[in-house]
Amino acid sequence: MSFRASVLTLYPDMFPGALGMSLAGRGLEAGAWSIETVQIRDFATDRHRTVDDTPAGGGAGMVLRADILASAIDHASPAGDQRPRLLMSPRGKPLTQARVRELAQGPGAVIVCGRFEGVDQRVIEARDLEEVSIGDYILSGGEPAALVLLDAIVRLLPGVMGNDESGTEESFENGLLEHPHYTRPQLFEDRPIPEVLTSGNHARIAQWRHQTALELTQMRRPDLLPAAPGKKEPGNR
Ligand code: SAH
Repeated sequence: MSFRASVLTLYPDMFPGALGMSLAGRGLEAGAWSIETVQIRDFATDRHRTVDDTPAGGGAGMVLRADILASAIDHASPAGDQRPRLLMSPRGKPLTQARVRELAQGPGAVIVCGRFEGVDQRVIEARDLEEVSIGDYILSGGEPAALVLLDAIVRLLPGVMGNDESGTEESFENGLLEHPHYTRPQLFEDRPIPEVLTSGNHARIAQWRHQTALELTQMRRPDLLPAAPGKKEPGNR
């Protein structure tokens, strides 16, 4: 059974969006994954199809109602659904490649996209939503965040990426940022490709790549280093 995404949103036309193209789009057509959208507004109960209301305690903006969102979730993910229920949220745990890999190995995901000031806290608790953040900045809605999450998952699914190795040698996969890349021409504006990469010596190339990855990580993302395996033996000399 392939990965199944259900996205709860007020803007279903945003899906599959960018994920209908390129590798993800071909995977979608080939059945490597599937996506359904659920219009939260369909679960409104009044004539005006209202989904939000003013925040208790006052203040700016509007809040997505717990009862309406709960009905939408129960419709998309009835009892017995094994898929995790995620809420895109800047308050969530920052998304990591490790969590993406876990999700890609599972049956799919139910993804709730917030809007306005966010969603009523009680539905987060009552439906056991896992809050997921894609970074420390504020989007206007959860939809772009859901697209980011799904893009990261889908490229790991079997049959989506041609070259399987490029899935495991990326930045973060081994706890380091990736080494720099080069391709033809050999000389670009007086800048040659590093000699080692054209040497044909695979051991030296592997060592150079590890060393540059380590240096780049030390310089740009020292916070990643405690988790990197083998960081004490740069270059494996
Ligand atoms: N008032 C909220 C922000 C609401 S932004 C706060 O200060 O925390 C509106 C919606 O956009 C959120 O409900 C969430 O679904 C989505 N969103 C915004 N930023 C996000 C981020 N960094 N990661 C994931 N989702 C985000």
